[in-house]
Formats: sequence, structure tokens, C-alpha cells
Amino acid sequence: MAAGGYHCQFRIALLGDAAVGKTSLLRRYVAGAPGSCEPEPEPDTAPTVGVEFYSRALQLRTGPRVKLQLWDTAGQERFRCITRSFYRNMVGVLLVFDMTNRKSFEHIPDWYQEVMATQGPDKAVFLLVGHKSDLQSIRCVSAQEAEELATSLGMSFVETSARNNSNVDLAFDTLADAIQQAL
Ligand code: GDP
Ligand code: MG
Repeated sequence: MAAGGYHCQFRIALLGDAAVGKTSLLRRYVAGAPGSCEPEPEPDTAPTVGVEFYSRALQLRTGPRVKLQLWDTAGQERFRCITRSFYRNMVGVLLVFDMTNRKSFEHIPDWYQEVMATQGPDKAVFLLVGHKSDLQSIRCVSAQEAEELATSLGMSFVETSARNNSNVDLAFDTLADAIQQAL
């Protein structure tokens, strides 16, 4: 077992258009439920790629205790200027869109391709996240079409809300379990 009582560390990125709610989702998760996994915010800056990361410990359903290193893109989304070496180091990716913003959904395949272009034989594990599920009355992406896109790209789909704290833990837990199974 590695130092600190963790079996391993999973590097996970949150990607998607600006303002879809990535930072809110991440902060909500890291601030998370008290109990089995203590929140462990470790904001750090890496100016060369314009990102910061947080970390949180997680007890996987399958047993081992892992540390999630969660990378947030800081305003670089607009410019599509995140370096490809950044993606290459990730074992997991949350592809996040805003369910009230159709364009952010339409851009998901672009984000997916951008990451896949960097991948070697050990491919990252993805999860599609439809965020702001609290805004049901103005959503413009149906669960069915999101499911269809997720299936066509070989991933699962989860609807989340940072505002209502809905499925926030589920999204990260689902991805971490899938990463563990792919190891
Ligand atoms: P980012 O650019 O993807 O990191 O998005 P932010 O986390 O900065 O959020 C963009 C905007 O969406 C902010 O005004 C947030 O308050 C809002 N937002 C984030 N999560 C939610 C949510 O779950 N529900 C609603 N209604 N608004 C949210
Ligand atoms: Mg942000």
C-alpha cells in the first residue's frame, strides 16, 4: 500500500464548456458529506496549464481506499488551450454539460475527441454529467438523448445538481468504481 494509507491515487479531470458548473460540482463534492471520507481541499495552481486541483479520499465499493486528485480547468475552456499533456495524465474524466444550455451538450463530443486524441492503450474512463438538474422547468436536453449520447461514446450518464446536492457523490463514486474496474 502506498504512503498515507491509500492503495492508489486517481487523477480525474472535469471538462466541459465555461459556466456549466464544473467548479461548483467539484467544490460541493470536496466539501462533501461528513463521515467515512474526510474532505481534504488542497487547491494548488499550475500556471503552465491553467488548472487547479483538489483531493478527497474515497472508500471504493470494491474495497480499497483511494485518493482522488480532482483537476478543475480554470477559465481555459473558452480558449480550448488546455495542453494535451494535461489530458494524457488523467485516468478519469467527467464530461460536464449544463442541461439548460443546449450548446454545452452539443460540445460534449468535441471534448471527448480532444481527450481521446491524447490517449495511449490505457484509455481514460469517462462519465457524462448533465448538471443543474434542479432547473427542470428550463432544461433543454432530455434524459433520453443524453443517455443515447453516453451510450454511443461508451460511458454512463448521471444528472447532478450542486445547488440541491443531488447525485454529486454518486457521480464521483460511479467514475471511481469504473476506474478501479478498468485497472
Ligand atoms: P464552471 O465555469 O463550469 O466552473 O461553472 P461554475 O461552477 O463557475 O458555475 C457557473 C454558474 O452556474 C454559477 O452561477 C453557479 O452558481 C451556477 N451553478 C453551478 N451549479 C449549479 C447547479 O447545480 N444548479 C444551478 N441552478 N446553478 C448552478
Ligand atoms: Mg470553473
